[in-house]
Amino acid sequence: MGTDTQFGLLRDRFGRVARDLRVSLTDRCNLRCAYCMPAEGLEWIPTEKTLTDEEIVRLIRIGVEMLGIEEVRFTGGEPLLRRSLEEIAAEASKMRTHLGAAPELSITSNGLGLDKRAEGLVAAGVSRANISLDSLDRERYAKIARRDRLDDALRGIEAADRAGMSPIKINAVAMKGVNEDEVQDLLGFCLDRGYHLRFIEHMPLGPVHSWKRDQLLTQQDILDRLSQKFELTPSSEPRGAAPAELWDVAESADHPAGDVGVIASVTNPFCNDCDRTRLTSDGQIRTCLFATTEFDLRTPMRGGASDEELARLWMGTTLEKQAGHGMARPDFQPPKRTMSRIGG
Ligand code: SAM
Ligand code: SF4
Repeated sequence: MGTDTQFGLLRDRFGRVARDLRVSLTDRCNLRCAYCMPAEGLEWIPTEKTLTDEEIVRLIRIGVEMLGIEEVRFTGGEPLLRRSLEEIAAEASKMRTHLGAAPELSITSNGLGLDKRAEGLVAAGVSRANISLDSLDRERYAKIARRDRLDDALRGIEAADRAGMSPIKINAVAMKGVNEDEVQDLLGFCLDRGYHLRFIEHMPLGPVHSWKRDQLLTQQDILDRLSQKFELTPSSEPRGAAPAELWDVAESADHPAGDVGVIASVTNPFCNDCDRTRLTSDGQIRTCLFATTEFDLRTPMRGGASDEELARLWMGTTLEKQAGHGMARPDFQPPKRTMSRIGG
């Protein structure tokens, strides 16, 4: 049964409708992944610009109860660094979408500290987790993340699984000369545990000069490597608005069957089917990861705008969403915010 409170839809001029809201709860992080943040020198968004819990809950409510949002994913920076995550999630799980159901709540996390939070998060309504894991080798993990925390990440993944989060998706940024020789091991690790591995092509969203097109490990490179060990067939599941293209992995002598995905934002973008809208921790709406402009909802909200006015502003900025990220164009400019400040 649907509700009649809906005010409008987050529809852009190309007919895409945003149903999936990514909420960045903080720009801070306890890792410093080289593809996402500089080693040092990135200033945190000042506290006075950071949305309060009440402000975040209000904007999620406007998205879910007035604008057709069906899924809410908490991200960051590292969302577990926001101590009130469970309270925000519990509030969101009381909301009702236009379909009359609670929004689907999920988290994208590096897993550090998830061992102590997973049960509470599930109790608060967070049912799914995407956890980042770029290497199973301690030294390499420490080099990529610039922190020696592999064991903590692994503990977090196990705890999320034990707490009943499902599916467990593992995100790995696959990079030439960094972890390309590990793509098979990462897949074996995930198949053995029933996790769903998603490789992500390295995107130009990190520190300046940290990305080079000719250094890119492409979707095809990843598939070629996996196919040397695993039998892959394109998944028959409809892809919908999912960013990952999926392959079924056949059972082998070493591993059970499962699936693997590649998010090929660079070489095979899914912009035509994108159903995402993003709220940054300082209250900016971003219609695309790669947008070079964003829309400030914090200022009108703090200036006394009503829910209807904020909903209208959100709808208005959605109309401006670009057709695609334009990475193939020679004049492509990456956004000024690093991924940690956008909310992946
Ligand atoms: N801290 C959490 C985590 O690491 O999962 C959530 C935020 S992080 C920005 C979200 C996702 O973006 C992670 O899976 C991370 O690997 C990915 N990511 C960050 N920078 C990236 C880049 N330049 N290219 C591709 N993926 C990136
Ligand atoms: Fe932190 Fe996630 Fe960025 Fe790594 S990818 S630095 S864990 S926000």
